[in-house]
Order: sequence, then C-alpha cells, then structure tokens
Amino acid sequence: MDLCSFCLKSGILCQKCSTKVKSGEISALDLKVAHVLLSLEEKYPSLQNVYFHKTIETDRTLAIVVGPGDVPRLLGYGGRIMKALVDETGKNVRVLEHGVDDRKFLEDLFAPVGIMTINTIWLPDGSTETRVILKRRHGMRSSFDANDLKEIARIVRSITLRVEFAD
Ligand SMILES: [Zn+2]
Repeated sequence: MDLCSFCLKSGILCQKCSTKVKSGEISALDLKVAHVLLSLEEKYPSLQNVYFHKTIETDRTLAIVVGPGDVPRLLGYGGRIMKALVDETGKNVRVLEHGVDDRKFLEDLFAPVGIMTINTIWLPDGSTETRVILKRRHGMRSSFDANDLKEIARIVRSITLRVEFAD
C-alpha cells in the first residue's frame, strides 16, 4: 500500500497520505487493516515482509490483497494472525495474492475448500461466467459466504462466478 511508514506507524497522517485518503486511493479500511497488521508485527515477524496492497469489503467478508508469496505469511502461526484480523474487523477474512492467474486467485478465495473444476460458460449475449465446482461441503467452515466471495471476485478480477458443489 502507498502509505508511508511514518503514517503507518504513528497513525497520524502526513499531508501526502492524507491526500490519498481523501481521494479514496487509500480507504479507511485499508488504514485499519494496515494498523492491525502492524500491531502484530512484533509477535509475528514474518509480517514485516508482507506487501499489503489493499482491502475489499463486502457484507460479511474482508479480503486482503497482498504481494506474491505473501499468503502463507499471513496464514501461518497456526492461524493466529487470521484470528486477530477476524476479532478486530468482525468479518470473515480471506487473503488473496496480487498478480496471480485466475486459478490461484480462486484457490485462495475458496480456501480451505478445495476446487474440483473451473470452466468458462459462454452466455448467449457473449458474456462469460466462470463456473467453480467445489469439493464437498464436508469440513467447510460455517463462515463461508458464497455471495460475498462472488462479489469479491467481481471487484478484484472482474470475474462473474457461478459456484457449485460436487456431490
Ligand atoms: Zn504519510
């Protein structure tokens, strides 16, 4: 994220960062999540190397977009970073990687639920939908919200998802 380290650490916004917040380039939610991550850095040092791009928020889900290879750094420590984020934001949290292909994006989006098949459906009007067939619901966390994940896919990747489950 394009917030200088002074502002990130102090929570006070310099002129330059303040302009970015006002223009919407950095959202209030970005700031909040950046702060939570920063406050956890001492406990979980691998967070220092995480490049935080931005956040996307839907009804019940918060998606955090991070740099290539950063997803495991957030999911590690037995899920304690994720739990802290859930506690602070009151939402389900997904961690997504910037600049990956569609398949990897979708795998991260639906994790820990595995994807069986991904294919493209052509609609009569020439538009496409991406159909994702997920492995059985068995073991699925109750926090899984397909509508939120569809919305996130649309915002982050401009993909229209159709989500189905394998029997
Ligand atoms: Zn600043």
